[in-house]
Amino acid sequence: MTTGETKPRAAHVVVLGTGGTISGRAHAAGDNVGYTTGEVGVSELIDGLEVPGVVLSAEQVANIDSKDMDFGVWRALAQRCAHWLAQDEVTGVVVTHGTDTLEETAFLLQEVLPTSKPVVLTCAMRPASALVPDGPQNVLDAVALAATPGVQGVSVVCAGAVHGASDVQKVHTYRLDAFSSGDMGPMGYIEEGRLRQARSWPAASVGRAQAAMNNIASTVAWPRVEIVTSHAGSGAALVDLLVRERETGAVDAVQGVVVAATGNGSVHAALEQALLRAQAAGIRVVRATRCAFGQIVPGAHHALPDAGALSPVKARIALMLSLMQG
Ligand code: ASP
Repeated sequence: MTTGETKPRAAHVVVLGTGGTISGRAHAAGDNVGYTTGEVGVSELIDGLEVPGVVLSAEQVANIDSKDMDFGVWRALAQRCAHWLAQDEVTGVVVTHGTDTLEETAFLLQEVLPTSKPVVLTCAMRPASALVPDGPQNVLDAVALAATPGVQGVSVVCAGAVHGASDVQKVHTYRLDAFSSGDMGPMGYIEEGRLRQARSWPAASVGRAQAAMNNIASTVAWPRVEIVTSHAGSGAALVDLLVRERETGAVDAVQGVVVAATGNGSVHAALEQALLRAQAAGIRVVRATRCAFGQIVPGAHHALPDAGALSPVKARIALMLSLMQG
């Protein structure tokens, strides 16, 4: 090296493991569905992974099937992300995760992480034991994204596409390209380790995220928020039951209800009456659309507020965080 020349600093990416199919093993290599999750540790997932100019380290936060995700794992994961992101030398964090609730975790992290550094969640649709597993390429792409200068916020990488945390949704039960960003389209694509960016990164809202993070750190029991679906033949019974439970002073009584509404936020008349009674009884009620594409387009005044473009599961997280904030 010539005197005075400085070597570019290596990017440091921390990979946090939480489980999922990516960490699963089946008895036969041809079996892509009959596997057990949580068999492969995160260190094994990054073993032999070489990304030029990137230093990798790993930590196992959990090793579960993401269908069983719970508040304890969410809290631990958010806190470990925050811990690593606060280190000057850490460029970004990658989270390996099951596909089933990936969009929920991505949205939660976006809402609570007070940082503009990248956090990239990734996954696999085939277990590690598959003839041709998709996990290794997804992890490689996620690490490449987390090490790319200028990338910020929480995103999801799967099958070469980069999805934003607010838009991403699992839309396929089996295909490797199982996620969609709906109308918004992906944030970009990873091609041979390089980002082809399609949209700009969302601005970080550090103050709001820090308050939400403090709340999830100190809240013993997260507020109970249920999702009910509006459909043909909907009735009042379920919501009325939740209201009665609350009136009898039950521990962990419901504090919020998200209604997975039809179309542009419409709700079956019988269910709507029950939801209005719930709202009058002090339960926070929010409408979110069941549709995979589009958002609730504001129109005539509705007595029940809507969640805009958020899906019911994300509207539920937003409502829980709002209830914690008080
Ligand atoms: N049930 C698995 C999980 O979400 C599915 C997957 O990872 O693809 O953990």
